[in-house]
Amino acid sequence: MCEQKLHNLPKNIAIDGPAASGKSTIGTLIANKIGYMCLDTGIMYRAVAFQALKEGINVDDEEQVTKLAERIEIDILPASSRDGRQFDVIINGEDHSWDIRATAVNAVVSEVSVYPGVRQAMTLQQRKIAEKGKIVMIGRDIGTVVLPDADMKIYLDASVEVRAQRRYIEDLGRGEDVCLEDVVNSLRHRDEIDSGRAVAPLKAAEDAIMIDSDRMTVYEVVEHVMKLLEKRG
Ligand code: C5P
Repeated sequence: MCEQKLHNLPKNIAIDGPAASGKSTIGTLIANKIGYMCLDTGIMYRAVAFQALKEGINVDDEEQVTKLAERIEIDILPASSRDGRQFDVIINGEDHSWDIRATAVNAVVSEVSVYPGVRQAMTLQQRKIAEKGKIVMIGRDIGTVVLPDADMKIYLDASVEVRAQRRYIEDLGRGEDVCLEDVVNSLRHRDEIDSGRAVAPLKAAEDAIMIDSDRMTVYEVVEHVMKLLEKRG
């Protein structure tokens, strides 16, 4: 599908959904096709969790983690290496693109993301980045809290079994020593915390387009969204 066919593109596209539902891959492909910027906000929460572990901050210490979220510098840049990364993630001037994906970060990122002060600091930055428009923003609360006026909202879902299988294959591909059962448990744990928190829980916006990708490939989902964009014109 060529870009010229698309008129009346939304100013912003919000993509929300549970862990490993393919949001980042799909969001990046769509953004590339329509010439938009893509921001995966999960990276920002991962950066806070990673930096807390690096600095030896107790992740149960809400005040210290919130202070960290208020001072941390996170730059998300186009990937400079073809090692499978989607972005370069620079935290306080250092490249931690892969470190933020570590099992230790997976284990605490949802806990850290519950803190209202952490969410406020991240949400402010995200809204600022979105001001210029032409952005595909990916997360858990983009359509509901960060950009409630986004003029296209997608909620990308898939069963925990399918998501775990995809994540497991990705992890194996990176040479990680993982076991499928642990991946299922880790996703279930994060889903539970993300959906159950009081502030900005994971949920679909009322006006979101629901896509269940259980029986769809990445390319089928992208094609489906491109058709929705074409219909708007
Ligand atoms: O999308 P990803 O799995 O990288 O996100 C990591 C974690 O960051 C999520 O499990 C969730 O706890 C948190 N997150 C969030 N709000 C967002 C994006 C991510 O709470 N908008």
